Amino acid sequence: MITKELFGNLNGTDVFLYTLKTSDRFYAQITNYGGIIKRIVFDDVDVVLGRDTVEEYTDNTGYYGAIIGRNSNRIENAEFYLNGKLYKTAKNDNENNLHGGISGFDKKIWDVEEVDGDEPKIVLTTKSPDGEEGFPGNLEIKVTYTVTLNNSLKITYEATSDQDTLANFTNHSYFNLNGHSSGTIDNHILTVNSHFYSPNKPTSVPTGEILASAGTVFDATSPVKMKDIFTSDNDQIKTFIGLDHNFALDGRGFRKVAQLTGDLTGIKMDTYTDMPGMHIYTGNFIKNDRVCKDGAVYDEHYAMCFETQFFPNAVNISHLPAGILKAGDKYESTTEFVFYK
Ligand code: BGC
Repeated sequence: MITKELFGNLNGTDVFLYTLKTSDRFYAQITNYGGIIKRIVFDDVDVVLGRDTVEEYTDNTGYYGAIIGRNSNRIENAEFYLNGKLYKTAKNDNENNLHGGISGFDKKIWDVEEVDGDEPKIVLTTKSPDGEEGFPGNLEIKVTYTVTLNNSLKITYEATSDQDTLANFTNHSYFNLNGHSSGTIDNHILTVNSHFYSPNKPTSVPTGEILASAGTVFDATSPVKMKDIFTSDNDQIKTFIGLDHNFALDGRGFRKVAQLTGDLTGIKMDTYTDMPGMHIYTGNFIKNDRVCKDGAVYDEHYAMCFETQFFPNAVNISHLPAGILKAGDKYESTTEFVFYK
């Protein structure tokens, strides 16, 4: 079942909040401003960080719940070569481009088609003109959110461009399976199906190395308590105050890549994707400086993000698979978050 309510008005345009519900056990609330997921509620527990109003989402530090594009994570020095031509994109993270630039997909008001049924979905579409934030090609983007009978939220990204371009989309939801206002995720248990990770330069841009995680704090192939990661004396963890790293995912095709368990609720979330990488960010820079959803105040390590994507900055690293979308080809990728106990 889909219900639609007015969420606010931005510069004369109404923005809506859609509730996609399959049962009393499971629903998600999504706004067409930034395609932002405001709530995912499983067994009465709201498991994502969020804000109350659309006005608050216009100042969405940390990209809570938002669709990220044209390019997820960082492009070093905000520039890249494609077909021999240099493209300079917007700098919004010191010298780098982060999450698409100053005005990315997270700030667009998307068109919406509702498709109600046993598994309700909303189809969000928008356009990004040639040159927007410095990226080439007129891009048409479609993001479909489906709430399934399996208590999951499935996100499918599709895009086409009239020129070769960079395309690498994700969703930036912050998960806390004890509930969004429950405190840190210190005692959450994480498993990631990955044997290699990308270390970062001090600028947070990956060095380009793909290192084996065996024997390091980056090995989460067996269940790991988050606190053990946060308190590790690994230099990378200390520098970034937790995980802010790309994991090279095992296998290919649409497969399970991670499991997270909330210790207080017993809620588990499996992440599935067809992407080669997943940037895991553990809310290291969340500041308790503003009141958020339902009066909650969040702080460092209150949640974590599973940002499925091509490897960060891959366009500038010749041995890594970058998300190059050829003119006329179709970008298609799916990520699914499944909740259960
Ligand atoms: C980045 C972090 C950043 C966060 C919020 C993550 O994807 O890797 O460095 O602080 O997004 O912008």
